[in-house]
Amino acid sequence: MKKYLFIDRDGTLVAEPSDFQVDSTDKVVFEPFVIPALLKLADAGFSFVMVSNQDGLGTDSFPLDTFTKPHELIVNTLESQGITFEQILICPHKPEDHCSCRKPNLGLVMAYLKDTSWDRENSYFIGDRETDVSMGQNMGIKSIRYDRDTEGWQKICEDLTCPHRVATVKRATSETQIEITVDLDHQGQSHFETGMGFFDHMLDQIATHGGISIKAYVKGDLNVDEHHSIEDTGIALGQAILKALGDKRGIGRFGFVLPMDEVYAEVFSENLNDDGITVALDISGRPHVEFDLDAVFTRDYIGVMPVQMVGHFFESLAVALGLTLHMKVTKGNAHHQVEALFKAFGRALRQALKVSGKELPSSKGKL
Ligand SMILES: [Mg+2]
Ligand SMILES: [Zn+2]
Repeated sequence: MKKYLFIDRDGTLVAEPSDFQVDSTDKVVFEPFVIPALLKLADAGFSFVMVSNQDGLGTDSFPLDTFTKPHELIVNTLESQGITFEQILICPHKPEDHCSCRKPNLGLVMAYLKDTSWDRENSYFIGDRETDVSMGQNMGIKSIRYDRDTEGWQKICEDLTCPHRVATVKRATSETQIEITVDLDHQGQSHFETGMGFFDHMLDQIATHGGISIKAYVKGDLNVDEHHSIEDTGIALGQAILKALGDKRGIGRFGFVLPMDEVYAEVFSENLNDDGITVALDISGRPHVEFDLDAVFTRDYIGVMPVQMVGHFFESLAVALGLTLHMKVTKGNAHHQVEALFKAFGRALRQALKVSGKELPSSKGKL
């Protein structure tokens, strides 16, 4: 679906002169970073529409020919750099004319409003005045109040092009009630309430080393035992990450890993590549797990968490997320063994989730 940036001209694309009229070419001054920002935004899939009030255009106070030259300079300069506007919409009236096309009235954009094929959710109105903000609201899209110093083009560009891979999964059965939210692009907003201190600590390893935020609220039948809570948390976490990944474009897909203290945990070594690179974790869409874990654990429990559940947790997560996952851990202190596995998983996940570029990392064209 097409997404639009409706953009004001004066005070937003070019500086607004003190007399509010850009009526000669020497009054044309572009706003800082507007060109590189618009190029990146075009690259991110936005189409542009200019929407401008030009008070009294065509009257004695603002003759058309004094408008045209500087306007063409603006448009031609942008165009020469690769920035084009699908439409340039201008209201030539004064406030006292009470026209229907002066922002924030909707006359200029009526054709867009009648067209239901574009993406309202991801389109914006950008302008430096309160009327621009109202215009966006009247159109039913979000507004951005442009401000050179605090909300300039570099920031707008960053905000609109950075990925927002966030998802929440709620899962309720007779055994557990779980709500998990993940944010794959922002760290430091994690929170854990699973009723099992050690398990909270382990989920925190995934978040911290994965470079993501996880909020996990788990109410399980701990009066029976820990099994359902840990298993279902794994399922819900896998579902939440999968949902947040969206179309998976640009992700690293593969992850590797990691020695820790005396224990060596790795997501091991399946030779998928001819050049000898070993693969630990693959967001493949084909769940498959190879574990070499249980035999070497030196204790049955850490805190209230049965170490048997470690493998089961990762298996549940891998199936829900569509993960090919290989893990093994060497002998050692059981707390370290388990922690090393969660850390290693987090580190491998970090690489696999990281976005660089826009391509789908699969020759099959599907993940
Ligand atoms: Mg303006
Ligand atoms: Zn008008």
